[in-house]
Amino acid sequence: VLYVAKERLRGQAILFSEKHQAEINETTGIMRGLQEANMDDEFSINYQFVVDSQTGVPVGAEALARWSSPVLGNVSPSKFIKNAEKSGVINQVTETLLRKTLAEVSTWPGDLFISFNLSAHDIGSSHHIHRLSEIVQSSNFPPKRLTFEITETTLLRDLNRAHDTLQLLKGLGSKVALDDFGTGYSSLSYVQNLPIDRLKIDRSFLHDIEQCRTSQAVVKAILELCESLDLDCIVEGVETEQQFEVLQGLGRMKIQGYLFSKPLPSSDALTYLQFFPEPKLENDPVTGGMVKQSRMR
Ligand code: C2E
Ligand code: CA
Ligand code: CA
Repeated sequence: VLYVAKERLRGQAILFSEKHQAEINETTGIMRGLQEANMDDEFSINYQFVVDSQTGVPVGAEALARWSSPVLGNVSPSKFIKNAEKSGVINQVTETLLRKTLAEVSTWPGDLFISFNLSAHDIGSSHHIHRLSEIVQSSNFPPKRLTFEITETTLLRDLNRAHDTLQLLKGLGSKVALDDFGTGYSSLSYVQNLPIDRLKIDRSFLHDIEQCRTSQAVVKAILELCESLDLDCIVEGVETEQQFEVLQGLGRMKIQGYLFSKPLPSSDALTYLQFFPEPKLENDPVTGGMVKQSRMR
């Protein structure tokens, strides 16, 4: 059909059809790949550190899923998570990822928090949330150092259910972070009514923060909101020294971005941590120097 259409008509509509077909093929390939995947072997986790803006010392890390498919090669998490949701294997994917993450980070030194992403389908099933709780409880990682990241869009799908799920996760002693804050409705009522411990300011505010006073004002306002509500706050997507300088002018915060650390496999993450030997370097006058040396880009 596409071939015939191409012969008869020339123009945008045809180009769109080809693109559309390519997307369908990709989606079908990913779904099939997921159905056939040996998840334990093909999935892995990368860790991106979160640092204190004043000391540069890592305080936590976010676990980010990676899929290396023997058929499709590396598939980005934004793509495969969406398709895992559509094809109904997301719960199995999340359980595998959580088990792997906890097994790895249990061997890490120090007391960093670890953030783990949940999708809408994860929080939609109470059976699955109980399974996740069991995975946490049977691991060697202290649940109080674990944070579950959830986006606002996820919460909005079913606020009542979201509330119960978050309570269950909090019951473990774990924390909850609202991810990509500022991209959706950013209604303060969620922040007030849901048991949320941390906001993550979306990286879309960062791309123009050096020149744009509005972005600066928004980030500043969210930081102040967090302070007055006693919420933890992370600014995401800091890539340049210039962005970092502007942020430093706004106060002390936690920062996540390529400037300090790209997502790293566990073995490289452990190497990174060696730059910050315990006891903590907070009062060490050398810390500034160590921070610069240790940045991995
Ligand atoms: P996210 O949760 O917002 O994760 C942050 C994403 O931003 C990561 O992309 C990270 O590599 C990227 N990033 C971090 N710092 C910078 C920066 O300075 N500049 C830029 N341009 N990007 C930066 P990644 O690893 O490709 O993950 C994309 C998304 O996939 C995540 O967005 C999250 O929504 C989803 N995801 C990843 N792992 C999981 C998982 O285990 N479960 C679920 N449900 N979703 C996951
Ligand atoms: Ca996240
Ligand atoms: Ca985010």
